[in-house]
Amino acid sequence: MAERHFKYVILGGGVAAGYAAREFVKLGLKAGELAIISKEAVAPYERPALSKGYLFPQGAARLPGFHVCVGSGGERLLPEWYTEKGIELILGTEIVKADIASKSLITAANEIFKYDTLIIATGSTVIRLSDFGVEGANANNIFYLREIDDADKLVAAINAKKDGKAVIVGGGYIGLELGAALKINNLDVTMVYPEPWCMPRLFTAGIAAFYEGYYANKGIKIVKGTVAVGFDSDANGDVTAVRLKDGRVLEADIVVVGVGGRPLITLFKGQVEEEKGGIKTDGFFRTSIPDVYAVGDVATFPLKLYNEQRRVEHVDHARKSAEQVVKAIKSAEEGASIEEYDYLPYFYSRAFDLSWQFYGDNVGDTVLFGDNDPTSVKPKFGTYWIKDGKVVGVFLESGTPEENKLIANVAKLQPPVQDIEQLEKEGLAFASNI
Ligand code: FAD
Repeated sequence: MAERHFKYVILGGGVAAGYAAREFVKLGLKAGELAIISKEAVAPYERPALSKGYLFPQGAARLPGFHVCVGSGGERLLPEWYTEKGIELILGTEIVKADIASKSLITAANEIFKYDTLIIATGSTVIRLSDFGVEGANANNIFYLREIDDADKLVAAINAKKDGKAVIVGGGYIGLELGAALKINNLDVTMVYPEPWCMPRLFTAGIAAFYEGYYANKGIKIVKGTVAVGFDSDANGDVTAVRLKDGRVLEADIVVVGVGGRPLITLFKGQVEEEKGGIKTDGFFRTSIPDVYAVGDVATFPLKLYNEQRRVEHVDHARKSAEQVVKAIKSAEEGASIEEYDYLPYFYSRAFDLSWQFYGDNVGDTVLFGDNDPTSVKPKFGTYWIKDGKVVGVFLESGTPEENKLIANVAKLQPPVQDIEQLEKEGLAFASNI
């Protein structure tokens, strides 16, 4: 039984792990102190690329092009960087058991990794239709997208099924980005989702109307208000059709399912305190157990701005929580203190020529402004969310970097609004005047 010991272990080799490694080096790390253990076979990379540039028919993004920290304009950490800094990248290694009492992480082959300090950064996993017993959901060419291996399989299928038919199940981030990516690859795309409009967790009806119109103009068919209840396949086990609850049957050579994810915390069940489906932390990402921290998708942390414990499954928080946790660990070692995490939620997405950003909280009344006509040559529009007389969230499609900074500022400062009609008229000018 092989046993190794490290001062710091990061479990998971995704976005948060990479940004944490960079922060450790910045704040002072000795060779051999840090290990990153990851199920994936590659060094940390910017995961959002998998549903965007990775799927381009020409000039597709490939590693090493999008290793962290390029996604935030930082240095690209190639595998050699970890070696140079004396960081052990233990790749292709899945931890199947965590024993917090003995500070041990264990693989299926019974390798044991001991730590003094653990950072849990295991991210999320996709929800599978087979989890709900959807008939035929294990057919070939039904894809989910979380890791680079998933993306490689999808790319192979896109190449094998040229000009074929694709069905996207789910109308969230993955559904919208993948719908666009497959269309760009010249597949005949149909999207299916049960809600009255796409991305209902963030989009208002007005925002969604633009994207649905835009997608329809690109030739994407959208089927709403129903769900996939079964899949047909041929003698080879390849999917041939998606059966819908409303009785319709959609032919399919490729199916991509994006119906949500869940944080990967099973290894720690019963060993750390949980909240809202994640591992409960404080503003320094400390869990209920000393020397055990949790960051990124798995952490349910105090969102100071809203005075509430929240979990955020977005890349910006993965990066920032990773930096915060390393600062917290290092300062505690030196007996110093740092400020609590004070996060402004920030989400974004890109598809076709579109690009939106959202900052803040999407609660309260909404005001749509600008040109959200999907047939416009240069559509540009946004939405303000207003709660208790203050603007608390802002969405903007096709903003310039400067305009995106302005809306972030509004969400942070939460300026009061007296006159909603005036706000609608002013649109983006309101943000410029804050
Ligand atoms: P991850 O980056 O998921 O990393 C977790 C790592 O832990 C993985 O390497 C995994 O293999 C490893 N791991 C898990 N369990 C074990 C184990 N038991 N043993 C060993 N290793 C393990 N967010 C945005 O804000 N904008 C976007 O446009 C956007 N696009 C996205 C597109 C896709 C396709 C996906 C999947 C996500 C996207 N996200 C986006 C979300 C964003 O990527 C995540 O919020 C972010 O990656 C979370 O970082 P993390 O480090 O917590 O987890």
